[in-house]
Amino acid sequence: MSVPCVCVAREAGEAARQELAAAELVDDAHRIEHADGRLYIPVVDPDAVPEGYEVVDRDAPVRETQTMPADLVDFEPSYERIGEVAIIDEDDPDRARALADAIVDSALPVHTVLNRASKVKGDLRVRDWEVLASPDEAEAAPTEAVHREYGCEYAVDLAEVYFSPRLATERHRVAEQVSAGEHAFDMFAGVGPFVIPFAERGAEAVGVDLNARAIEYLRANAERNDVADRVTAIEGDVRDVAGEYENWADRIVMNLPHSAGEFLDTAVALAGDEAVLHYYDIQHEDDPFGPGERAIRAAAEPEYEVTVETRHTVRSYAPHELNVVLDVRLTRR
Ligand code: SAM
Repeated sequence: MSVPCVCVAREAGEAARQELAAAELVDDAHRIEHADGRLYIPVVDPDAVPEGYEVVDRDAPVRETQTMPADLVDFEPSYERIGEVAIIDEDDPDRARALADAIVDSALPVHTVLNRASKVKGDLRVRDWEVLASPDEAEAAPTEAVHREYGCEYAVDLAEVYFSPRLATERHRVAEQVSAGEHAFDMFAGVGPFVIPFAERGAEAVGVDLNARAIEYLRANAERNDVADRVTAIEGDVRDVAGEYENWADRIVMNLPHSAGEFLDTAVALAGDEAVLHYYDIQHEDDPFGPGERAIRAAAEPEYEVTVETRHTVRSYAPHELNVVLDVRLTRR
């Protein structure tokens, strides 16, 4: 049967699929197909497809229905996937057990289920996990996974480093602004989900993290994605490292919501004559952008002219609290 499909070059396929999936436009009843270097992604509503995409009619094969976790439990299941690991957040042990069994028994390519056992803690932003399912013969720790995001791969150990798949769209939004040759500095780099795509786009990228294991993973991920020649990974407190990179950066990422404000003097020291700062914050919904903007102005003015280019809500964080980002251009006067 002929169905509307978005038709894109194969190399742009994953980004297009993720954008269409985020807008809930992918038609799961039909299969995505490759042909002649193009990817055909069936969509449920051709009129809602964002501008710039080509939509064609095509005989897309019907997808065989597969058993999903929702088919196996009597509640609406919620889980995230990081490679072959599923993450759940269930306080009730019976519900946690039922959901873990459903995930493993479903058609999802998942072998490990982890339940959140604490909030993210301390400077390193790592949490504890309860292992509800893992393969018997596994050599790696059950908390180790390889996550794929917009064409890049990240190895992580969730028990040792911070990583959240929820920020994929946001990271991609920022990466799309990066040009070849620019100097990009991630002050809180983790395993590299900003640094690696920046380097993929030809930037010279520096990532700093206090967590020694995160830096080991960042180096390994740079190799894994074939961008090690454009990535410098430094273990340490970014306040101690920044001296080597004063006036260097064209782009600075500050993804340490809750405490990024304490590092703004360091960010200003890193900035070159013109730099874009991506400043992540968690604030009350009544004034989500005001505190960040005021703090940035206090740190950068009058040395720099401060222009807020984007005020964007990344996601809801807690009742009445938003995770937001400000893209701010600093231009030396
Ligand atoms: N940017 C990464 C991402 O999106 O996955 C990681 C963000 S995570 C919220 C914050 C990171 O900042 C953690 O990996 C933590 O270890 C690191 N960190 C905290 N304080 C730091 C400091 N003073 N200097 C450098 N890194 C720091």
